[in-house]
Amino acid sequence: MKRNKFYIAFLLYVLGIASCNSNDFEKAYNSINTDEITSYVKIIGGDDFMGRKPFTKGEDTTVAYIASVFEQIGLKPANKGSYFQEVPLVEVSNVADKLMKFSSGKNTLTLNYQSDFVAVSRQLVDSVELTKNQLVFVGYGIVAPEYQWNDYQGVDVKGKTVVVLVNDPGLVGEDKKFFKGKEMTYYGRWTYKYEEAARQGAAAVLLVHNTLGAGYPWSVVVNGAVGSDLYLVPNDKYASRCKVEAWITGEAARKLFQFAQLDTNLIHAAAKPAFKAVEMNCGLDFSLRSTFQYKTSKNVLAYIEGSERPDEVIVYSAHWDHLGIVAPVNGDSIINGAVDNGTSLAWMFSIAKAFMQLDQKPKRSILFFAPTGEETGLIGSSYYVENPCFALDKTVANINNDLMLPYGEMRDVMITGFGQSELDQWLEKAAKKQNRYLMPDPNPHTGMYFRSDHFSFAKAGIPSLFARGNCDHLTKGKAWMQQKELDWLANNYHKTTDQYETWWDLKGVEQDAKLLFEVGYELSNSPVFPQWSKSSEFNKGVRK
Ligand SMILES: [Zn+2]
Repeated sequence: MKRNKFYIAFLLYVLGIASCNSNDFEKAYNSINTDEITSYVKIIGGDDFMGRKPFTKGEDTTVAYIASVFEQIGLKPANKGSYFQEVPLVEVSNVADKLMKFSSGKNTLTLNYQSDFVAVSRQLVDSVELTKNQLVFVGYGIVAPEYQWNDYQGVDVKGKTVVVLVNDPGLVGEDKKFFKGKEMTYYGRWTYKYEEAARQGAAAVLLVHNTLGAGYPWSVVVNGAVGSDLYLVPNDKYASRCKVEAWITGEAARKLFQFAQLDTNLIHAAAKPAFKAVEMNCGLDFSLRSTFQYKTSKNVLAYIEGSERPDEVIVYSAHWDHLGIVAPVNGDSIINGAVDNGTSLAWMFSIAKAFMQLDQKPKRSILFFAPTGEETGLIGSSYYVENPCFALDKTVANINNDLMLPYGEMRDVMITGFGQSELDQWLEKAAKKQNRYLMPDPNPHTGMYFRSDHFSFAKAGIPSLFARGNCDHLTKGKAWMQQKELDWLANNYHKTTDQYETWWDLKGVEQDAKLLFEVGYELSNSPVFPQWSKSSEFNKGVRK
């Protein structure tokens, strides 16, 4: 009898806590709402922020605004009493020749700046020059021992110009295991192509664009290359990089092949194991002048201190930077970035607000992190993982978002980097509650896993989640949504038309904010460290 009484009392006690906790959670969860998200997006994507380019007045306005939102929400400054972390950078401005001149015997071929090619140099010197520089076609330009693949074998490219295809040989074959099939491996990414060509001692790289392989159209390449570029401050003035890092269009590459009397079928043959690099019967004349300035940009960070294990942290992230002001297109010169990445900043703010609604504070700390320099190579997040505010081995997980589209609620939760870690299972539980299902990125050939800030955390060994509804619209379905995404990439992505419109439906952002608030909430009250999948290239052993 006594025992029964004890059990009943205990049960009531447990239920009491549970219902109290769940009421507390539900209240916070339900506080996330579309109206508030929309009002944040209108502000962040507004013309006052001037496209949020680092070092411009747009940066000052943006970082001050983000810090003020963090303060209003009641978050603590995360970097030794400051909401800001200074990120030392070098800004490189290049003026390239308007023509790339190729010569073969007495014949010449010229390519035109922007319509055929774009070129930059990362080397911190006044000018670089190529004179009758020998060209070598090295296919995909990949050295991958795990696939017994070496495009540089048997050819000397030292001091020469390599012509390289974007993406990897898995893209065009049928074998799902070979270079992960259609999924882009890191070997397919342009950053890798430049790194490998430099390791091989090449003087220059001409990277051949195609929209499928790159994952974006030529206009995105041009917008990314004109104007200045930002890099972390190097130890060696980037002397180890190639002198010239350039893209050419697929059409320009075909002209070049014909000019060098090479069979254009070689472009297809490059995906086959029998492919061998081949010297091209022509040389390149090209030069480029650079000016550079050392400056600092700012990461913005704030946190909620954990009530029991304050040194352990869950990191939410959404980059604040975007592309700034460009030559006017239809009278508009500001690339507002309301979707990239205004919607994700609003997503993060609303999650932070929800955490602050909780009566029971989370046991672990929660960091809200708005990095700079994402658009120019994940610079702010790379700097953070080298200079973290919380120890990396106590950093439980990163939950990042980027490019959250304004088309409303979705049935799916698309994971970029599906299957990389146990975070997928944490997400699945929260998704079920919303009657949503998980799915991998249907376009893994675009290499999106390497293209936002979660990748900096993944490289540093921290399981990271980049997930949002993106493919299966709640009422209009998959085909409709697929078309909308294609439209967005073709017409708005990285363009002046990425600005708030009254037709936008940000209910999907609310849905994803609730979803990922729940994941962070569960993680913050758990003692568990989610693990990497055994097959993941980022798995460095058990985390605890
Ligand atoms: Zn972005």
